[in-house]
Amino acid sequence: MGSTAPPDQGNLAILTKVDKLRELIGSKVALPQLVVVGDQSSGKSSVLEGLTGFGFPRDAELCTRYATQITCRRETEKSISVSIIPSDEASSHDLERIKNFHCTLKEMTPESLARVFKEANKAMGIRASTTSTSSESLPAFSEHILKIEKLGPKEEHFTVIDVPGIFRKETEGVTTGDDIELVRNMVQKYMKDSRTIILAIMPSNVDPATQEILKLAKEADRNMTRTMAVLTKPDLAIERTQQRIVMNLVEGNRSDLTLGYYIVKNRGPDDVDKTLEQGQADETKFFSQPEWTNVRRLGKAGIAALKSRVRGLLTDLIKKEFPKLKAEIAKELLSLRAQRDKMGPSRSTQDTQRAYLNKMSEEFQTIARDAVNAYYTGNEIFDTNYDLRLITRIVEAHEKYADSMWKTGHTRPFADDSKSEADESIPGTPSNESEFSDLDFCPELDEILDPVDLIIPETSGPEDIMKYIGEVYRASRGQELGTFNPAMVSTMFKEQTKKWKPITLSYMNNVIRTVHRFIVKVIGEVCPDSRVRDELWNGFILEELQKSYREAMKEAKFLLALESNSTPLTLNHYFNSNLQKAQSERLVSAIEKVGNERGLRNHYGTQESGLILTKEKLETLSLNMGNSEYNQSYIHDILKSYYKVSQKKFVDVVCQRAVQYHLLQSEQGPLKIFSTQMVLGLNEEQLDMIAAEDSPVKIRREKLGRDIEYFEKALKVLKGST
Ligand code: GDP
Ligand code: MG
Repeated sequence: MGSTAPPDQGNLAILTKVDKLRELIGSKVALPQLVVVGDQSSGKSSVLEGLTGFGFPRDAELCTRYATQITCRRETEKSISVSIIPSDEASSHDLERIKNFHCTLKEMTPESLARVFKEANKAMGIRASTTSTSSESLPAFSEHILKIEKLGPKEEHFTVIDVPGIFRKETEGVTTGDDIELVRNMVQKYMKDSRTIILAIMPSNVDPATQEILKLAKEADRNMTRTMAVLTKPDLAIERTQQRIVMNLVEGNRSDLTLGYYIVKNRGPDDVDKTLEQGQADETKFFSQPEWTNVRRLGKAGIAALKSRVRGLLTDLIKKEFPKLKAEIAKELLSLRAQRDKMGPSRSTQDTQRAYLNKMSEEFQTIARDAVNAYYTGNEIFDTNYDLRLITRIVEAHEKYADSMWKTGHTRPFADDSKSEADESIPGTPSNESEFSDLDFCPELDEILDPVDLIIPETSGPEDIMKYIGEVYRASRGQELGTFNPAMVSTMFKEQTKKWKPITLSYMNNVIRTVHRFIVKVIGEVCPDSRVRDELWNGFILEELQKSYREAMKEAKFLLALESNSTPLTLNHYFNSNLQKAQSERLVSAIEKVGNERGLRNHYGTQESGLILTKEKLETLSLNMGNSEYNQSYIHDILKSYYKVSQKKFVDVVCQRAVQYHLLQSEQGPLKIFSTQMVLGLNEEQLDMIAAEDSPVKIRREKLGRDIEYFEKALKVLKGST
């Protein structure tokens, strides 16, 4: 059963290493350890004393009110040193007091120990005594750890933690319901970690089945593989049945614990005058009674057997966990260093503050440049964050916009487009506005766009374009012969393009939001300190951004006005070729109307379809259409040819100037605002306001520095170089 021999040199080295680690990073990394848990007065401190030889002063306090870590180590000089390991939540004020507390005793007398414990209570900031009245408003329990090191030439290496006992009843003026909760949480916290061996202490004179501590242990240790039960007070289990139950458990019948049950007999309240050695002699005598023969033979009775078993368990656990521990510590160290790097160097002077902001702006510029050039392999933030692939998002928006303009930009479909553009939406129905209304909540952008500008205007006049042209024609014709008033084309073009404004401005709004979202995210990325970020954002960046967005919007509105308010103008030869094409199509269809279709034999001898036209028929051709009718179709063809040419030009120019130039490329554009120039332009006062460190940051930096130092030392310990 377990290793009964004292640990050899190899084990000793490894145990020493774990102790050093505990010192350095014990509160941050779960280390293999032994904790003693149980109800109040179940005998925890007595078992602890048996295991370590360290006895708590009996008259000082009856119950433990904080976790106590007892470490025994072999040293030539005999001494006991007591200090406090502060909890992670300790305030800096408490920290100071706690660090100042340190006692070393050469000789251990009950009086000197009692004095040390009183001092420790004071340093921890808890009540001097649980029995004192509640007029003292100090708490009864503490989350700090009392650390006791017991050194001496005969000590064997051993570390164990004693936690306050669980209790269920509050005591008027001494403990409260909150205390019950606090202690239970503390116990659970200590049991939780998979590298902890739990010693659950239970008195033999109480039915073990009713013991809450095993239930708690089971919550922390599902399969009960690292929990060992230790039964105490066998001398108080006088009834035969009770003794039988206890013996059965120890013998391992119906045992639910992998590590089994052990049994020890400590000194009782009447043995106050006996030394630990006398107590252990009593224990040996007690278990040599015939009824304990079986249990004794199993090696599960007595403190010596228990001690050798737990020491073996602990050593095995440490050996098993060592490689994992090394990896864990190395990983944590990397993460801590990364956090420190992200914080940058300390910023107490103007130069360091400027350098800090400069580094951020350069990082921002690099990411922005990569995002505009679609160089997404440049930084890994593009992998996880799709919104940051800026140019891809913008090209998508361009395409949507061009498509929307093509399909729904006109007020009325042209007369002969119904076949070729069957998928055009019906005029008058609003264009697919939701495509561009990806408006996440961004109140700071509200003023960029007037929602009125997004309303799709209603069609005035007849839906059919020929009827509409006829109406305008009749309302404004003069005495023109074979020609028409050119102002009419302007009027009709304006009417035909009045949906361009809502579509274009909605697209602009969408693109601006895409750029804005990009900037917000990247600044969040390059500036992790939220205080600095807020100062920078609200004090300097946001206003400039709004200005540049307004500039882009202004450009789009200018282009809109230019296109629909001035006299139609194009030098594009497609206008003429479109017009001629439309005219000749019209001629062909007129000829088709008067001609007789029939099959003709061509000179290859095969059939072709063709038209037969007689001279008389041909002469009726022009007579079929009156002057005004002819003019109206001619106007239609001009309008259509001009519309198509100018729509394509308009879309191109909006994308190129309002978006590409004003939003992405311009030196005054939103992407260029957070730049080295901006940082250089900040005066001393502004710099200090943005980049000076506030005290939480200073504290965090100091803590990180300390943690890194400890983890570095811990890694050295693990690698055996100290
Ligand atoms: P803790 O509150 O769990 O730390 O329990 P203690 O170790 O302080 O013990 C509480 C009381 O039980 C003390 O008076 C001890 O002397 C007594 N006690 C502990 N173990 C035994 C035992 O095995 N037999 C007897 N008779 N009394 C014991
Ligand atoms: Mg105790």
